[in-house]
Amino acid sequence: MARNELIEKTLTDAMNYARTFLHTGKVATYIPELAKGYPDKLGACVITTDGEIYSAGDWHQEFTIQSISKTLTLIMALQTAGYDRVFSKVGVEPTGDAFNSLVRLETKNTHPLNPMINAGAIATADCCMNSKDPFGDFLALTRKLCRRNTIHLDEAVFQSEKKAGMRNRSMAYLMQGDNILEHDAEDVVDLYFWMCSLSVNVEDLANYALILANNGVDPRTGETLLEDWIVRIVKTLMVTCGMYDASGEFAMKVGIPAKSGVGGGIMGTVERKMGLAAFNPALDPKGNSVGAYRVLEYLSHYLGLHYFSGSSYTVS
Ligand code: GLN
Repeated sequence: MARNELIEKTLTDAMNYARTFLHTGKVATYIPELAKGYPDKLGACVITTDGEIYSAGDWHQEFTIQSISKTLTLIMALQTAGYDRVFSKVGVEPTGDAFNSLVRLETKNTHPLNPMINAGAIATADCCMNSKDPFGDFLALTRKLCRRNTIHLDEAVFQSEKKAGMRNRSMAYLMQGDNILEHDAEDVVDLYFWMCSLSVNVEDLANYALILANNGVDPRTGETLLEDWIVRIVKTLMVTCGMYDASGEFAMKVGIPAKSGVGGGIMGTVERKMGLAAFNPALDPKGNSVGAYRVLEYLSHYLGLHYFSGSSYTVS
């Protein structure tokens, strides 16, 4: 299969472009173990539906999946508890608030507004607990979609999250009090922290994004890995809520369904074309990776990946 020289060159240029912004970001420190990340690490990977892999920079570097796991948690929740049950506990509207905000649980309604914020992911993790082996099943799902059987837990980050997870515990207790959670708050947050602490690299995430881009079917094998109605829900929520309270700006400037995590990863999916992922632990004030954001922005602009490409938008 022929390598696409335009993708190769644009990826190299995207990395150079992104590097000029890294100094503007800071690694996450609210989870002490994440503070050990190197802010100048930058990696990216693009996998096209014809199976070609384009990798650049620190593509082999592992980092914790963090909030990108929220897409997998939603998938598993829909698979184990079904549409009605999941969406009786969590909504589908963007919040405009920080990912770890508690405020809407009191002022808007008791249900978290969407599955891509911490409160919503804790509610979907609760749905996953109906499986016999939630940890094992989640790991198996992640490994299958990322196409790597050696994906494992980063134990140090997991312990660090547990120690520093007061806000997440508060949300869980509020939701247990309001009967949104059906299991004990401590058990649910434990599963949530564990899901966030799986260690991945950009190639893993690009593989997963490719399956989403191809509506659940692995284009390389023809195997159906996910039902298309589930993929549609996940990608829709990635568009509206995947980049925290910068989802609107990202939709306008980049226009790729994406999900970001405070470990520094961003995964993006381009309909029927490619899965992509980038990594850089330096975060902007909203918790999105500075370098990964810029890699995706550049690729979108110069490869015409915006879902409304043809419209004029500029890389600022
Ligand atoms: N585990 C992190 C937390 O709960 C995930 C947040 C994120 O990546 N935005 O705070």
